[in-house]
Amino acid sequence: MSAKIVKNYINGSWVASKSSRKQPVLNPATGETLAEVPLSTAAEVDRAVQAAHEAFQEWRTTPPYTRARSMFKFKNLMEEHFEELSRLVVQENGKTIDEARGEVRRSIENIELAAGIPQQMMGYNLEDVAQGIDETALRQPIGVFAAINPFNFPAMVPLWFLPVGVACGNTFIVKPSPLTPLSQEFVFRLLEDCDLPDGVVNMINGDEEAVNALIDHPDVRGISFVGSTKVAKLVYERATRNGKRVQAQGGAKNHMVVMPDADLPKTIGAIIGSAYGCAGQRCLAGSVMVTVGDAHKPFMEALADAASKLRVGYGLEETTQMGPVVTQQALNRVCTYIERGQTEGAKLVLDGRKTQVKEHPNGNFVGPTIFDNAKPGMSIVTDEIFGPVLSVINVPDFESAIDTVELSRYGNAASIFTSNGRYARDFKYRVRAGNIGVNIGVAAPIATFPFGGMKDSFFGDLHGQGPDAINFFTDRKVVIERWF
Ligand code: NAD
Repeated sequence: MSAKIVKNYINGSWVASKSSRKQPVLNPATGETLAEVPLSTAAEVDRAVQAAHEAFQEWRTTPPYTRARSMFKFKNLMEEHFEELSRLVVQENGKTIDEARGEVRRSIENIELAAGIPQQMMGYNLEDVAQGIDETALRQPIGVFAAINPFNFPAMVPLWFLPVGVACGNTFIVKPSPLTPLSQEFVFRLLEDCDLPDGVVNMINGDEEAVNALIDHPDVRGISFVGSTKVAKLVYERATRNGKRVQAQGGAKNHMVVMPDADLPKTIGAIIGSAYGCAGQRCLAGSVMVTVGDAHKPFMEALADAASKLRVGYGLEETTQMGPVVTQQALNRVCTYIERGQTEGAKLVLDGRKTQVKEHPNGNFVGPTIFDNAKPGMSIVTDEIFGPVLSVINVPDFESAIDTVELSRYGNAASIFTSNGRYARDFKYRVRAGNIGVNIGVAAPIATFPFGGMKDSFFGDLHGQGPDAINFFTDRKVVIERWF
């Protein structure tokens, strides 16, 4: 039986792409073909943009309470289908079912944020700025927005943007990652029942061609991008050149500093969750552990012990603690970095290449990997590997730890583990990373806070989530009035 081909969703209908290009969607744990995804053409993108552009005229006049009601419906449907969607995330992405449930919960929180739009979109005013003159600040929706998404949170990342964007009165186009298009197909089936007029939400499957068509389209007013730094930069430069507002979240290499006074069992638990959760394929994954002074020996021993006990397997099996990486290419990349780390002189303490999952011989499995004696400048320390590889650097003191963190070109997240408030305060004050964890391994802001990012991890001004999102998806206008 041939695999189903994922459709696009344009102007309230599911439309088969006419593109001659398509690629398989594979289950990373089993190698099974789940579907085929079309790589849509620029003409198909144009149809989606036209639909969204036309729908905007009416949608922007729809009262915010009505728009918010659609978000309440959307939230309820997501709750109703919580488990089904979580299982689909596992099947196409590879993460464990618990990780997928966490992802879907975070998705719903972003819809809840959007359901509060009647209050959050309010402006402000001041009477008698001069005698008899009043001034009012308004927020207005802008038009068509598009979100371009990575594979690693296929349910959640598009929902960092779509709910708030749409609740603010804009219309929307989602382009999922071609590696993981099925979660969004599912989400859009739920959106069909949320009383949104045709054209308000649209989905286009595709790759670079579709992305460039969105970026170049004169009727697309803003772009939210999440993915690797290389593409984030390309998208940011091209879309801003085209006069669009852009928020482009890129890659990461997150450092975790461990002070000798850190709580050992709790810290190890947090570091294991950070480095190996989602098989290291999180933009907030800790991938460098910086031990300070005497912390090195006890934390290294406990880390190696805990990491070697993680059960690697298919994410749908509840006992699995770490799933595969997303593709065979990703697996090859991780293995290449492990070889490089050895060549560069780091000490391979735990080698994930030895991990086998007998029940699933076609899965892209690589087990938890640890390098000790890593040094700044080694590729395993500077590059985003995006797999379950943790490099450990030992430094003599707190100041050297800060210097080591600051060497990174990335600034997505950074964590410190300590029981000393002064170190914690200094760390959060000085380190240039958008999301700071203090005794937290995965410093993920909830929906009401902006999702930070600095240096090569973010291009733009306004981040996703929280008040930044409301600003990104609205224009501010000031009315100064006098009546004779
Ligand atoms: P990716 O950059 O390969 O792809 C992201 C999106 O860009 C996809 O939709 C893809 O189709 C499109 N794309 C790819 N190449 C393109 C090109 N040349 N021109 C235009 N579009 C192109 O990223 P990925 O592998 O899917 O995701 C993993 C990356 O995403 C990691 O680097 C990770 O750190 C990052 N990420 C960042 C955040 C964050 O918040 N900063 C969150 C999640 C993931």
